[in-house]
Amino acid sequence: MTHQRPGSRPASGRVLRGWRPSPAFRSLSFRGILIIVVGGMILGVLAGWSEKSLLWAETAQPVLKVGFAERDISPELGMEQPGGYGKVYHRTFHDPCKARAAVFDDGQKAVALVGLDVLIIREPSVQRIRDEVARRCALKPEAILLAASHTHSGGPSGMVLPGEYDHADDWVKHLAYEVASTADSRYLEKMEKATVDAICEAWEKRHPLVCGVGRGIEDKVAFNRRFRMKNGLTFTHPGQLNPDIVEVAGPTDPEVLVLGAWSPDGKLEGCVVHYTCHATTNPGGISANWIYYMEKVIRGFYGPDVVVVFLQGCSGDVTQVDNLSPFQNPTGEEWAQRVGGRVGAEAVKTLLLIPRGNLAPIDYRSTTLTIPRRRPDPKRVEECLGLTKKDPKEVGATEWIFAVQTVLLDAKLKVEPEATVELQAIQIGPLVILANPAEYFCQYGLELKAGSKFPYTMPVELANGCVGYVPTEEAFGPHGGGYETRLTAYSNLDFKAGNQIRDTLLELAHQLTPGPVPEPPRVTPVTTPWSYGAVPPNYH
Ligand SMILES: [Zn+2]
Repeated sequence: MTHQRPGSRPASGRVLRGWRPSPAFRSLSFRGILIIVVGGMILGVLAGWSEKSLLWAETAQPVLKVGFAERDISPELGMEQPGGYGKVYHRTFHDPCKARAAVFDDGQKAVALVGLDVLIIREPSVQRIRDEVARRCALKPEAILLAASHTHSGGPSGMVLPGEYDHADDWVKHLAYEVASTADSRYLEKMEKATVDAICEAWEKRHPLVCGVGRGIEDKVAFNRRFRMKNGLTFTHPGQLNPDIVEVAGPTDPEVLVLGAWSPDGKLEGCVVHYTCHATTNPGGISANWIYYMEKVIRGFYGPDVVVVFLQGCSGDVTQVDNLSPFQNPTGEEWAQRVGGRVGAEAVKTLLLIPRGNLAPIDYRSTTLTIPRRRPDPKRVEECLGLTKKDPKEVGATEWIFAVQTVLLDAKLKVEPEATVELQAIQIGPLVILANPAEYFCQYGLELKAGSKFPYTMPVELANGCVGYVPTEEAFGPHGGGYETRLTAYSNLDFKAGNQIRDTLLELAHQLTPGPVPEPPRVTPVTTPWSYGAVPPNYH
């Protein structure tokens, strides 16, 4: 299948219809005539095709088959609300958490992009979902992207998995299952089944659509949360207007990248939105977080059936909190509306200008890295074990929580001293999605965009697994520090992991060749001006 620039017309058969045998033709040998006849038949078929497709060619001929579907993955009231290192339970409901899936198929290869309203997705869930999808439809496991939105108001998909610490002693098991934030097997089952159903429905529904990618900017709702302090270190959330702040320690990425898919008559059927900001604007209760309001704005304009797949950018150090603002923070509800509403509005503005055509080819690459985990000092482990047996009030809540984490990490290292890190590159024409399972620092997202030769690059974090925070090497240096560099059972990869992930993702991207960016039909320069307007000023 060729991928025609939208608006360009295939060679027409009209020339052939006016053709009559010439003296040169009459003198040809039989073989020559045969070649011409067969060639003519082929051209005739092409001509018929081009006649039929002229109408399509006025806009664009859909070659890509695209399908969208979503399912509810809301937890039940009373289930855990993961997001911190301790247990918190859901008491109210705000809006549904969803699995939102998009399938793209160019006839040669097919991929699925899935945005999940969960804090994180752990590797066993990824594997079960992919295996079941592969059993039910022709999608390859490695062609499926499962990306957590990182909503801090979703269901218990992590942190600790059921059975994960069964190898450890009773005290460690108590800390893992009764103290730390723990996934719920009933929730995992619901979330995994709903996700498989969403992907398979999107696969079944796929049909020819025209697509396009565009970029907008939203630079007023996301902020880096790390600051260089007067003491020479870097702190996370030092507090609003803290006088010891010297400067912000990292960037943000204001780009809103949007892929849209329209029916040939111009109806938006679904879109993929990529933005970089922690989903920590908890509006109160079970919620997709600010992603809910983003979807609400897009559906408000394009209709309630549009599926909005959200892919989270590298926001390991980026949240909605502006530590440099002199004003009081809004409520969670207002904050969710502010971030989601503005990103959604920017997505609509972007969609309105996207030229539609065929995004091709579809392709994908993936690889896994084995990265060692950092190890706590054995003396520190011993000390922390003692602290966990004391009252948190006596020890101090923060000290106690991280003591628990040190003990859990020590137990984890006994069975899993290294982390398996899946990296994935998915291409949809001129767009490449570079996915990794880390809470990856924004600087790396920007470096992936700068290093990619694709016109559009979506670096996606917390995808296809979870390996915790992966900061820059600088954050581990003498002037580094902060929350994300703390050594826990959740975040513990070697300090070189960040660069390794970036370099490997770029290698994967470089194995792929970007497809063309669709353009609207061009016009030829007009030499006859508008007769009403082509006059000198009229004074009298
Ligand atoms: Zn986070």
